[in-house]
Formats: sequence, structure tokens, C-alpha cells
Amino acid sequence: MKYGRSVVWFRNDLRVRDNETLTRALAQSKEVIPVFCIDPRSFATTNLGFPKMGELRKKFLLESILNLKESLQNLNADLIILTGHPEEILTSFTEQHGAQAIFFSEEVTAEEVKIEHQLEKKAWSKGIATESFWQSTLYHIDDLPMPVSQLPEVFTQFRKSVEKLSSIRRAEDIPKTINFPRKDVKATEVDIQKEYGLEKFPSLPNKVMKFDGGECSGMERLGSYFWKQDLLKIYKETRNGLLGLDYSSKFSPWLALGCISPRSIFWEVKRYEKERKKNQSTYWLVFELIWRDYFRFICKKHGNKVFQIEGIKNQGDSWRRDSADFQRWCEGKTGVPFVDANMRELNTTGFMSNRGRQNVASFLVNDLNIDWTWGASYFESKLIDYDVCSNWGNWMYVGGVGNDPRENRYFNIIRQARNYDRNGDFVRFWIPELASIEGFDIHQPQELPANILRSKRIELGKTYPEAMVEMEKWM
Ligand SMILES: Cc1cc2nc3c(=O)[nH]c(=O)nc-3n(C[C@H](O)[C@H](O)[C@H](O)COP(=O)(O)OP(=O)(O)OC[C@H]3O[C@@H](n4cnc5c(N)ncnc54)[C@H](O)[C@@H]3O)c2cc1C
Repeated sequence: MKYGRSVVWFRNDLRVRDNETLTRALAQSKEVIPVFCIDPRSFATTNLGFPKMGELRKKFLLESILNLKESLQNLNADLIILTGHPEEILTSFTEQHGAQAIFFSEEVTAEEVKIEHQLEKKAWSKGIATESFWQSTLYHIDDLPMPVSQLPEVFTQFRKSVEKLSSIRRAEDIPKTINFPRKDVKATEVDIQKEYGLEKFPSLPNKVMKFDGGECSGMERLGSYFWKQDLLKIYKETRNGLLGLDYSSKFSPWLALGCISPRSIFWEVKRYEKERKKNQSTYWLVFELIWRDYFRFICKKHGNKVFQIEGIKNQGDSWRRDSADFQRWCEGKTGVPFVDANMRELNTTGFMSNRGRQNVASFLVNDLNIDWTWGASYFESKLIDYDVCSNWGNWMYVGGVGNDPRENRYFNIIRQARNYDRNGDFVRFWIPELASIEGFDIHQPQELPANILRSKRIELGKTYPEAMVEMEKWM
């Protein structure tokens, strides 16, 4: 054993399955103390006036922490929950509890990496060792066929080369038990449920996925989507859906906080292919996980550029910064039903389909010409699956400042609505004030004669907003 006692600092790896940081700490230490730091900076208010982490995101995070605590208790340990800046409080905690090392998982983006470096510096100055592990991606960074600095700027090139030249490591085993120094560590029961107001959330309507944070519900979703409901074999055909629970995997919130690892999903896909069916759909889910990897490695390659208005393309800044127009987009009051329905879903549930995200993002940047970083910040606040790399990477693409070889990713909203919500059911679900309009007409109430609108008690500009843009351009 290298260490008598170590601290495992949990970050976006809130799980006990396939957690290399935890298993390595256990292998190298006689005793292990698991810790999570609630960092008040995560709840700060952005320059745009909304919280960096909105309520639904916070709820999902706190549930995930509580679930991890339970899993660790089942392994005879506990989770110590501290509040403060990890780079400041972890070293003194480690010192006070006589531990010799801090184990943690590596992140890629500036704020998180800065915290790691500051923590390392402080720990080393006190003679405390640090050990960090890469574990957020499907392909391990050390197994890439190229150094990150040489990462191809085009996704397809990256995908083809990893598929050909790399392989995916086996998942780590779940620890059988944890030797936790119970006598010396007091697991103070922080009532995070009360402290952070978890009980306040209204219940969600049917047809909407209810996401509970934590590894257990993530694994339950995996079991249900793959095995119980047998939906993986049709994923490729259904994945562009908008309404309901099962058109796509909905794994993203659990992936974002590391309640489930991409590797666990990959090996479960392999088992499904062996035991049930192997087809384009089973491949496609892995294909999407490679996109997730790609954005993570791109962020590592390009550093802070991914958050900057010029993006990695160094494009000039000609964006509008109109707070009132932006506010209408945020609230789902643009007067474009397809956009509004998606934004209202986001605000109510903390989730939006991939199809929805592409459309609302394109509308903001291409039709309203509003600063793409504003949109990314709003998503950061609201999405329960907020993942710094996937979010800012995708927004850069839509904003045209990323590394997309296809120029101008413009979405014709009406054409999109026709393809993906032909009967208007999605819009009808989220915009009750238009629900009495039948069929596709709900997407363009402006086109209906005034007497019909009147008969349905709809008054544009009063009961539902007038469109912010000329919708004729899409017809
Ligand atoms: C503007 C914009 C912002 C986005 N922000 C985020 C974000 O903050 N967090 C996030 O996880 N995804 C983000 N995405 C990607 C994608 O929309 C979601 O991952 C997906 O909708 C989640 O639903 P799912 O788990 O059912 O996906 P599925 O279709 O079932 O895909 C399986 C998994 O593959 C990964 N994946 C799928 N599509 C993408 C993609 N385009 N980029 C990266 N990974 C992908 C996700 O981890 C997802 O859980 C964003 C997309 C856009 C266009």
C-alpha cells in the first residue's frame, strides 16, 4: 500500500461503478475518505442575470450526491459533504484527517483545470500527494491515435481514426467494500435537501421524462431502455423525436454528472448486440457517444477559445445584444410556436430533445442574430444534462464559429416542424393557448383568418405573441 489514508474527491464522477479514481484509491490506500465539495461559485449569477446553475440542474445534482452517499454507505463508507472552494478546503480537510493523498478525476475546461492546479499546488506544499485520472470519455485520452494537439478539426476524421486505431477499455469493477475510518471522520449529516430547497418543485405532466439524479436511476434507465423496453434496436429511427419518454436514450443528464460512465453504456451495448440484436441503431448510440468524446477533446485542444465569441474559427463579432429579444427567446415567447414549445419544455423540465436544441439555437443565432454565447449561457443554467464541452461545442457549431466543415447550419423552422411535428402534437402539448388549432396549422397561427382565431379565443399579440420574425421566409 502506498498510502495509509487517502481522500477521494468526487467531481463529475458521481458513481461507484466503473470509477477508476475510486478503485485506484482503494488499491493504493489502507483507508479511504470519499468527499464532495459543494462549491458556492456554481450557484453564482451570470452577467446576464440568471444563475449559472438553475433550480432543476441543482435538484438533479443534489439528488445525485445523495444517491452517491447511499451507495457509499452500502459499501460501509460514507460521503463527506463539504461546502466551499475545493482548492481551499480540501487540503486542510486532508491534513486534519491524517490522510496522505487526494485522488480525483481530471476535467478539461479552464475553470475546473485551474481549481485542480491550485489544489495540487496547495496539497504539495503541505506534503500531500495528488493522483488524478482521466475518465470522462469513452476512449481514454492515452489511447487516442494522435496527441490531443493534433486532433482532427473534422469529426468524421476523428471518428474514423479512433474506430480503426483505438479500442475501448474494460470497465472497472464495483468495489466490494471500502475501508472507511469511521472513528476519525464524522460524517456530518448536511441536510442538503432542506438547505437547497429540493422540495419546492412542482410535479411534471405526463409524457415528460422525470429525471431523478444519481447512479441508481441512471442504471435503471439503462436497464429499461435497453432490456425491459427493448428500444435500443430502433434508436436510429426514433432519435429525432420530440415528445415522450423513449424516442432517445435520455442518458445525457446521468452522463453529464458521471452517474453513469460512457464505457458502462458501451459494454452494455456490446452485450445487447450479442444477446438481442446488432444493427445500425446499436452502432448509432455509440456513434453519438463518440460525438460526446469529440467535443471533450476539442475543448482540451482549444482551451478557452470555445467560450469566446470568436470561437475556434476566430470569426469577427457582429452579433446583436438585445436583452429584450433575448428574454423573449428564453421565456418561449417568440411567437414562433416550434421554438416556443421547445423553450418552454426546457424551462419546465430542464431537458430538450436534440432536434429542439438545434432549432432553437439556430433561431437565436441565425434569425435573431443574437450573441451565441448568450444562448450557451442560458442552456448552461437550465439544462440538467449541462456538460461544459457538449454544450459550448455544439453552440459553437450552430454559431458558425466552430470547426464544422458544413458552412451555415441554418434551420428552416417551418420545414423542421413539418418533418418532425407534422400534426403539431408537440406544440399543442407545450403551448396550451394554441391547443385548439388543429393539425399543422398550429405552427403558423399567423396564417389563419382572423375570424377562425377569434372563434378559438386566440388573439395574436395578446393571448399568444406575434412572431418576432417574418415567418413567410420559411414557407
Ligand atoms: C445547442 C446544443 C447544446 C447542447 N448541449 C448539450 C449539453 O449541455 N449536454 C449534453 O449532454 N448534450 C448537449 N447537446 C447534445 C444533444 O442534444 C444531447 O446530448 C442529447 O439531446 C441528449 O439526449 P439523449 O441522452 O436522449 O441523447 P441520445 O440521442 O440518446 O444520445 C446518446 C448520448 O450521446 C451523446 N450525444 C448525442 N448527441 C450529441 C451531440 N450532438 N453532442 C455531444 N454528445 C451527444 C449524449 O451523451 C447522449 O446522452 C447539445 C446540442 C445542441 C444542438
